[in-house]
Amino acid sequence: MAFETQMLSSNDESIELAAKLIQQGEVVAMPTETVYGLAANAFDEHAVAKIFRAKERPADNPLIVHISELTQMTDVASQIPTLALSCAKAFWPGPLTMVLPKTPRIPSITSGGLETVGIRMPSHPTARALIDAAEVPLAAPSANLSGSPSPTCAEHVLKDMNGRIPLILDGGVSDAGVESTVICFEPEAIKILRPGAITAQMLASVTPDVRIDKGVLHAVDNSQVVASPGMKYKHYSPKANVIIVDGSPEQFKDYVLSSGTPGTLCLIFGDEGMDNTEMPCIDLGLSSEEQAHNLFDALREADERGAKTVYARCPKLDGVGLAVYNRLIRAAAFEVVKL
Ligand code: AMP
Ligand code: MG
Repeated sequence: MAFETQMLSSNDESIELAAKLIQQGEVVAMPTETVYGLAANAFDEHAVAKIFRAKERPADNPLIVHISELTQMTDVASQIPTLALSCAKAFWPGPLTMVLPKTPRIPSITSGGLETVGIRMPSHPTARALIDAAEVPLAAPSANLSGSPSPTCAEHVLKDMNGRIPLILDGGVSDAGVESTVICFEPEAIKILRPGAITAQMLASVTPDVRIDKGVLHAVDNSQVVASPGMKYKHYSPKANVIIVDGSPEQFKDYVLSSGTPGTLCLIFGDEGMDNTEMPCIDLGLSSEEQAHNLFDALREADERGAKTVYARCPKLDGVGLAVYNRLIRAAAFEVVKL
């Protein structure tokens, strides 16, 4: 192990220590309102290279740059359309990432070789305090090993990053539970590249023309050039084989009871009649917000419980449900049983 990884409760002292480490070119894990992030100085290519190594992340998968003040935006983005300013006013600080042309200060490694960069202003007080104390924008992807479910608490981060980074700031369980909504701009239109807690309906308050990239709902071929590089990789996958089962609660119950074998576990939304069966279940909750909040923890728990097959109910496609569906369909490698 290169590092003895420390996990400290987030407070003034630990944030100060984390900021010092970042200024020395190190990587630290920080809580955000979406999921935990692995943060380093976005301007320092050697520090950013350590993020890629710690996560074993493919070099062409860009990182999101986190700022705490609007004035930092011009250090990161070279052009800021009016629509972007309207979005910042409406949704920052919060779980919205905007893809804009990058400044030369952002090294190519941070943007995965692209001429654009994803920028976000998080609302979590620890993330904001750390950016302030480090006095630089922080490049921060989700703090999981590449391919595994994103971490929604400090213990998840420790599991993936123990020995790989010096410090984890523990700021409790992430509120949203899914990563930020990623958008780019077309003249007078917003395009959603990755759905999150800021929904299409919410973005429509800024412009009526909100589009959804086809990679949100469908698999993208590895040879294709994609708008959002993260969408082409295997993602959010537990060791168990995840299968989405699309049907009514009764059909779901009949299907899993007849197909399930020892080692089967179900992800359900409310009890839906499964409570009087012997089938092991994790209840993600009735609302899309609860499902988003609980999803990654449930995928990690499925592995801890030794599940071989996970049958999941099919999420709704509207509101935050689109983000739940987008993550679950990737965890399931696009395997859906339609009843
Ligand atoms: P993560 O930091 O793990 O939540 O992943 C960040 C994701 O944001 C990437 O995988 C991309 O899909 C998206 N992203 C970040 N920067 C850009 C960019 N410049 N252009 C398009 N998508 C981006
Ligand atoms: Mg990620």
